[in-house]
Amino acid sequence: MITAKARAVHGPDKPFKATEIQRRSLDTHDVLIEIKYAGICHSDIHTAHGEWGDVNYPLVPGHEIAGIVTDVGTGVTKYKVGDRVGVGCMVDSCGECENCRQGEEQYCLNGMTPTYAGVDKYGEPTQGGYSTHIVVVEDFVVKIPDNIELDAAAPLLCAGITTFSPLNRWEAGPGKKVAIVGMGGLGHMAVKIASAMGAEVTVLSQTLNKQEDGLNFGAKDYYATNDPETFKKLSGSFDLIINTVSAKVDMDAYFSLLTLDGTLVNVGAPGEPLSLNVMSLIGHRRSFAGSMIGGIRETQEMLDFCGEHGIVPKVEVISADEIDEAYKRVLASDVKYRFVIDTSTM
Ligand code: NAP
Ligand code: ZN
Repeated sequence: MITAKARAVHGPDKPFKATEIQRRSLDTHDVLIEIKYAGICHSDIHTAHGEWGDVNYPLVPGHEIAGIVTDVGTGVTKYKVGDRVGVGCMVDSCGECENCRQGEEQYCLNGMTPTYAGVDKYGEPTQGGYSTHIVVVEDFVVKIPDNIELDAAAPLLCAGITTFSPLNRWEAGPGKKVAIVGMGGLGHMAVKIASAMGAEVTVLSQTLNKQEDGLNFGAKDYYATNDPETFKKLSGSFDLIINTVSAKVDMDAYFSLLTLDGTLVNVGAPGEPLSLNVMSLIGHRRSFAGSMIGGIRETQEMLDFCGEHGIVPKVEVISADEIDEAYKRVLASDVKYRFVIDTSTM
């Protein structure tokens, strides 16, 4: 067993506390990673607060992990000591079902193993990246391009892939008008990635407070959704909308912004159901879709794309003692644009 320092939350309303957790000894295909940075995703907050269902506490969240390989199992072929690597939202899957064989491990028909709040194949609860070390089977480890610093790489492992995947699938590119709803962690990555793909990007944020940043990230336009004129002006404008909002919003208002055959993809995952008037879709043959992270192959593709295009998130590095405060700020939409924990402060 390998002892790692970690920060755990002991209940939905409890603060984070320093603790120690055990990582398994290396199995044949396992990689031991010394975690350098871990991003704070809004999903960590939904989970820690019990908004997505019951949680077994104590919980160590964190699925945006960047670090260095410090040991490898005897059968490992893909990584060696010293490699700069990342781990995202899943650490295993069956590898045999139709979806896994297609490289869509996140949709494993036997259930993928989430990086935290899950149970691994050894029957042990999984604990995430707010810690100093993690052991992961090599097939669920990805390589970080040399030109991306580790603190900036961490958020790519969830915010990056979760936005890259639907932008890729729904073919954001030249000639496509794409709107990004909510410019937080996921949203600001979506703006950068969609712009790099060549799409014409518009940000729909609650206010105009972050307009200058949005335009610098590559957006052509930026509108405030607290202004009802926005919805009149942009009616029928977008081929694709990516909704990254972590709370319930008026879906019909956003559907009205789609063109004929336009698609709104929800990646935001609020705990409460979203409602819609189906007439909003019928009227212009619109589609409403969802998308969850991305497969391992696509995650590597996203990292390589970001490396080639020089795309990195804008991060605020914090110490382990600042996690509770960071959660409060994320909930207040006061994050520019991802908090990343420096795990040397554990
Ligand atoms: P975040 O950094 O908190 O960003 C969410 C943004 O949504 C905020 O910055 C804010 O943008 C906007 N927003 C928040 N509350 C709002 C409200 N009441 N009304 C309108 N807009 C509001 O969160 P994140 O880490 O990007 O995650 C966003 C969501 O995606 C979360 O629900 C998370 O669980 C989910 N998620 C899903 C996947 C997946 O695989 N599908 C993966 C990761 C995360 P403005 O300030 O610009 O308005
Ligand atoms: Zn996430």
